[in-house]
Amino acid sequence: MQKTETVVQLRDCLAPFHTAHKIVALVPTMGAIHGGHRALIAAARERADIVVVSIFVNPLQFGLNELPAAYPRDPEGDERACAEAGVDVVFTPSVAEIYPRGFSSYVTEEVVSRPLCGVARPAYFRGVTTVTTKLFNVVQPALAFYGQKDLQQAAVVRKLVADLAFAVEIVVVPTWREPDGLAAGVRNPLLTATQRQEARAIYGALEEAKAMVAKGVRSPDRVVAEATHILSQHRRVRVIYVAIVDQVTMEAARGEIIPGRSVLTIAVWIDEIRFIDNVLL
Ligand code: AMP
Repeated sequence: MQKTETVVQLRDCLAPFHTAHKIVALVPTMGAIHGGHRALIAAARERADIVVVSIFVNPLQFGLNELPAAYPRDPEGDERACAEAGVDVVFTPSVAEIYPRGFSSYVTEEVVSRPLCGVARPAYFRGVTTVTTKLFNVVQPALAFYGQKDLQQAAVVRKLVADLAFAVEIVVVPTWREPDGLAAGVRNPLLTATQRQEARAIYGALEEAKAMVAKGVRSPDRVVAEATHILSQHRRVRVIYVAIVDQVTMEAARGEIIPGRSVLTIAVWIDEIRFIDNVLL
């Protein structure tokens, strides 16, 4: 596994692979590698000759009251995990490498990024689209892998790629879950046993919604009400949003749920820890 920290190192490292027309895949992450990241890397290995993992805690994605310094980090563990997972190139740039002094160019997507997480975290997707543009320019991947768990992020990146004609295919990988149904995430290890118990309500609500649709329910209001009811039974769970949206546009479902297209998406606080999850209905 080759380790790179600067744009120049990464470009130099990838140049021979591009010259040889190898299929290069990018898996962008913020590190603290877990099962979800491993699922993305495994999917990338199946389709690509060269797998590049970027590990960068992007300060642009954090709001005014969120601190990048508080984000879980594990550089040694990440290096080991990437090597074990068969990653070819790991890119761990500093903040100054990605945003050098005087940096003043930003990329925004202005429709898909607006609802849901865009409401509570207005700066978040601008951070995602800006860093994604830079990573795509440097890596020039043929494929880029994203998790279904961050559904809106994948939809925003897809729109960015379509609108700005990046020559990259976006691949979305199913959410990797722990045995109790909780989606793998960097904040899971921070949960106390009680909080973890309460967090299971998220998966419970998703499962119930899916079961209702399988039984023929098509009313978004009914399904959202039931999912919200399940979550609200738990004292530590505070709902940020529960919504049924189109999986491509993120528009709220009006009228009927469309199986295979509509997604129930949930964001909650469990005490001070934020979680998002979703299920295709
Ligand atoms: P992050 O490091 O949290 O920015 O996530 C990096 C990538 O991993 C994103 O594309 C996420 O959607 C994806 N990811 C995070 N958790 C999971 C999970 N439980 N299952 C699948 N993909 C995930």
